Amino acid sequence: MSNSYKVEGIILNSKDIKEYDRIYSVFSRQVGVFNILGVGVRKPRAKLASGLEPFTYGDIFLIKGRFLDRVRGTVIFEQFSYLKQELDFLTKSRRLFSILNQLLPTAEPNEDVFDLLYSYLRLLNELAYLKQLKQGQKTFQGKARNYQSMLTNLSDDERDQNNKESKRKKRQDGKLKEEVVHSKNKRTDYQKVNKAQNYSPVNQGSSRTKLDYWQRWLKTSLSAEKIEEVNDLLPRVLLWKVLYRHGYWAYSSVCSQCGRKLKAVTAEYSFFFSQGVFCSSCADTGSWKQKPRLRLKRDTLKLINFFISQEIGDVFRLKIDQQTGNDFKLFTQWFVEHILEKKVVL
Ligand SMILES: [Zn+2]
Repeated sequence: MSNSYKVEGIILNSKDIKEYDRIYSVFSRQVGVFNILGVGVRKPRAKLASGLEPFTYGDIFLIKGRFLDRVRGTVIFEQFSYLKQELDFLTKSRRLFSILNQLLPTAEPNEDVFDLLYSYLRLLNELAYLKQLKQGQKTFQGKARNYQSMLTNLSDDERDQNNKESKRKKRQDGKLKEEVVHSKNKRTDYQKVNKAQNYSPVNQGSSRTKLDYWQRWLKTSLSAEKIEEVNDLLPRVLLWKVLYRHGYWAYSSVCSQCGRKLKAVTAEYSFFFSQGVFCSSCADTGSWKQKPRLRLKRDTLKLINFFISQEIGDVFRLKIDQQTGNDFKLFTQWFVEHILEKKVVL
């Protein structure tokens, strides 16, 4: 039997050991979260090091070891270089990865969460790119063609306008027939794309989704403030999706105790671990009165329900006022700290 194998993984973080070595925590599609050993990676000009930087996504080739499996080589798929150039983006994502590293169960694969994490990195990377674009550090060149093709797909009006114009042209050229067939194909493709996007909330990592994100950005024409806002929100959105998928949270619209619609009862609820969300009258009845709980505002619950049920890119659609944003942050912090039983920085 062979001692070597390959995983598709994202590097979460690393820790230096001995003189030249490093232990990496990697989240892989096949194994879930586990630790691997990079021997000699801190030596100058070490070939392996760049493929093992935090946030790197790629194939990792490993050899079975007595304690930890050792990295033999890597094939880098994506390094998310724009994200790495933005200090604020980097800091927030590092914090998130550190929390995920503690939160995710070891050696328990979860493809859903893996795809989510990948989408998160890609989304943030594109956001960082957009930020640099706005600051004039980058030119439109590289993406110009993408923008152009998306713009032509943006609305029916626009497309019809284009079709009319090209028809007029082609009529003059006597090539109308050819063009009609061509635009028909295009349209069908576009409808297929839409259908696929609506089909699954975790349909991420494909070129279709990228198209989807770009369209959303173009439509909302993100301001510099909005970019910062999304950068601030996105790690928490991912966190809730992970918490939900690992069973720490359930979609809650009714009181776990009396079953009444929460919306109809009060504007503030209580959350009891392993019990769920209670309306305020249930939370203050009988023995529950003495039990520790987290206070949960109606708008915070609304946000959490939105994040766990919608696609990660949908956060662009949201307008969140400051008070709601702060309540949500606070609740997220309490929640994670309670699970990990220690203070965290988010
Ligand atoms: Zn109740």
